Parts: sequence; structure tokens; C-alpha cells
Amino acid sequence: MPPRLRSAWRRTLLAQCGLLLAAIVAGIAIGHVGAVLAAAALGMLAWQHWRLRRVLQGLGARQHQEPGRGQGAWNELDRLLHRSRAEMRARKRRLLEMLRAYRAAADALPDAVVVVDRNTQRILWFNEAATGLLGLVHPRDMGAPVAECLQPLALARWLAAGRRAEPILDAQAPTDARLRLNLRLIPYSEDHWLLVARDVSKLLQLEQVRRDFVANVSHELRTPLTVVHGYLEMLDPDEFPEWRPMLEEMQRQSQRMTQLVEDLLTLSRLEARDSLPEEPVAMAAMLATLKREAEAFSQGRHTVELQDLAGCDLLGSTRELHSAFSNLVTNAVRYTPAGGTVTITLARAPDGGAVLAVRDTGYGIAHAHLPRLTERFYRVSSSRSRESGGTGLGLSIVKHVLGLHQARLSIESRVGEGSEFACHFGPERVRTRHDEAAPGARPAADAP
Ligand code: ADP
Repeated sequence: MPPRLRSAWRRTLLAQCGLLLAAIVAGIAIGHVGAVLAAAALGMLAWQHWRLRRVLQGLGARQHQEPGRGQGAWNELDRLLHRSRAEMRARKRRLLEMLRAYRAAADALPDAVVVVDRNTQRILWFNEAATGLLGLVHPRDMGAPVAECLQPLALARWLAAGRRAEPILDAQAPTDARLRLNLRLIPYSEDHWLLVARDVSKLLQLEQVRRDFVANVSHELRTPLTVVHGYLEMLDPDEFPEWRPMLEEMQRQSQRMTQLVEDLLTLSRLEARDSLPEEPVAMAAMLATLKREAEAFSQGRHTVELQDLAGCDLLGSTRELHSAFSNLVTNAVRYTPAGGTVTITLARAPDGGAVLAVRDTGYGIAHAHLPRLTERFYRVSSSRSRESGGTGLGLSIVKHVLGLHQARLSIESRVGEGSEFACHFGPERVRTRHDEAAPGARPAADAP
């Protein structure tokens, strides 16, 4: 017990003992010790009850009351209670101020922020931007089911995914068809989610401008390049032996520029689409074509092997899938020294999907480069890519084509040992092969 409280306690005890002693002395003086002592004890009890009542009144009172001024135990108790209540009030005020500051900050955010109860999926709070971007109205939508309030966005399945919900990159705002939104669900506690919607209209517009620019430039370059390339083709180096090195270099470079423009146009075309026409893709024919192309590109310098273990077809765009697979096969030949082996394998995946893998025994790629390989113009070795006629866009095209088929590209590689580029298709893309009895049994016709 702190010294101040101990001395207050002692003082009260002494006062009570003094009072009882005085009662005994007075009782002896008048000859009625028992009666006077009982009267004194009753008086003390009454006083204790009165003090207890005052303390209880003070605790229950909403109004601020000054504590007693005396130095006894009851006054100390009064003062302690008064102090802790004052501290509690100050703490509450500070917390409220902090809460107000946080709310003001969240309100000032240009992004729409909605706090959602995880269990009931009802709206607990939203900021001002949520009114402009998501059309939520205060107080009408407080406590309402979030999926219902944002109905045009069809969020029910997305919300049901909870922690696993992928961000929605481009959605139309319910308030204005011209606004494009990026939506994220952030589970920030056990019971609460934060739904954040950002206006990405300008960003998407800029992206569109960039795409249009690249597409237009590539388109504009195509005709003059075709003309230059055509004339250069007509010039036979044998007729101008002294110009031979220059003519050959000019032909090589114009060929490279033509390929670059074609790849840029392919990428622009793919980027502009959300989906591709779907048709059964005859994989036996596709594999045979890929093998033939690899052999033609290799010109006998590599061994090309084919393993058709899946015996299934795919559902998708034959043209685009051929362009993606062909890019992987030409890369495998390009980045494998003479004498190496390129293996094209089609196999079933454990989940019922299918995997088309292109493996080579070539130069391989250091681990650090793998995450960036599908970026446009990213090359591990620019000189090697250019020498072999690469544009730096091949794997970007592959990634886009696979994305449009909800498939993914995996890359495994070891420097000096070789690489494997595998396209993983989901079970929904797999179709039974009708055109042959057993995998690899029939020589296949050409793919497009
Ligand atoms: P490029 O036209 O330069 O081949 P890609 O986008 O097709 O462009 O490939 C990007 C880079 O990835 C290449 O420059 C090359 O460095 C590396 N790469 C791609 N395929 C292979 C492979 N099979 N083996 C080794 N490196 C590869």
C-alpha cells in the first residue's frame, strides 16, 4: 500500500478507536458503559454507511463531482476514484480524437474504402469517395449487404473467395459507365474486410493510347518496310560482288525489322482482345507441324524429338496457339548449340489438364533472369538474341496467348544444361482426341 494511503488508513483507525475509548470513559462517568458504547458504535456504523452511499453516488453520477477534502480513508478512496475516472475520460477523449483523425484521413482518400463485416458481409462504414465511385449513400447503405449494394458489379462470388480473391483489375463503375475501377479485398482482421476501389480510368486510357500508338506505328512502318525489303530481295549479291557484304547485311536487317513489326502487330492484336474464338485444336497435327518447323529452322544441326503422351486435343485458337508453341520451339533451336536436342512433349497433368513442354539441351538461363523473361524486349544476351534473329517479343506473345486461354507458362532452366518452357492448360481446355486410335499413331496433317 502506498505510504499516503497507509497513513490515511491509520488515521481513520485511530479516530475510531479514540471515539470508542471516549465512549467507554463517558460511559464509566455516567455509569452506563454498555449503552454509551453501543450508541457510539451505532453512530460509527451510520457514518460508514453514509460515506459508502456518497461514494456510490459519486460513481453513478454522470456529472463531475469534487472529491472530499479530509484526510481519512474514505476521502482517499474518493480521491482515487475521482482520479481514475478523470484519467479514463482523458483516454477516451484521446481515442475518440484519434478515431476521428483516422476517419478524416480515410474520408480524404481519393479511393473508395468500404469496411465490411466478414461474417455477415454487411457494410459497416464507407468513405466519401465510395459515394462517387460505388454509388453508396449514407445512411441508406450502412448495414446493408455489400454485394446487393454494388449489384451491377456482380461481386458475390468474388466476396465468397475471401482471402483468395484476386484483385479485379478492370470493372465498370456502378455510378458512371465511363469510369473504370480496380477492386481489392483486404482482410485486415479476423472479422473485418476492407474493400478498396480505385479509379483507373486515366491509367487505362493512357495504356490504350500507348497500345494504339505502337499498333499505328507498326502498321505505318509495315508498307515502307515491305517495299524496301522487296527491292533488297531483288538485288542479287552475285551481280554486285563488291557490294555483297553490305547487301547481305541490309537484307538481314530489313528481315529483322519486318519480323519486329510483325511481332509488335501480333502483340497489339492480342492485347486488344479479351477472348479468342474457341475451336478444337488438333494436337497431333499441331505437334507434327512444330517438329517440321523446328527441323527446318535447325537445318539439321539439332535432333528434334516428339513425345505425344496425352492423346488429347485442346480447346482454343489454333492460329494463336500455333504461334505461341512455334515461338517456344524456335527459341529452343535458337538457344541450343549445334548437336543439341530439342524435345516437344504433350502430356496430361495430374489435375486433368494438359501440358505442352519444349525442352532443350542449350545454353540455359540464370535463375535471376527467369521472372523477367516474358517482359517485352527482355533478353538475357542481346547479342545472342540479335545474331539469331530474335526480336525480344516472342515470350511476351506466348504469355499473352496463354493468358487468353487461361493457361500459364512455367520456365525451368540451368545454365549450361538447358531449359524447359511448359504451357499448362486447365481441364476445361482438354478435349478427347477423335482423329486417331492411339497417341502418335497416325502421321499428322499440317496445322495452319
Ligand atoms: P528473343 O526474340 O530475343 O528470343 P524472346 O522473348 O523469345 O525473345 O525470349 C527472351 C529471351 O529469353 C531471349 O532473348 C533469350 O535470352 C531467353 N530465352 C528464351 N528461350 C530460351 C531458351 N530456350 N534457352 C535459353 N534462353 C532462352
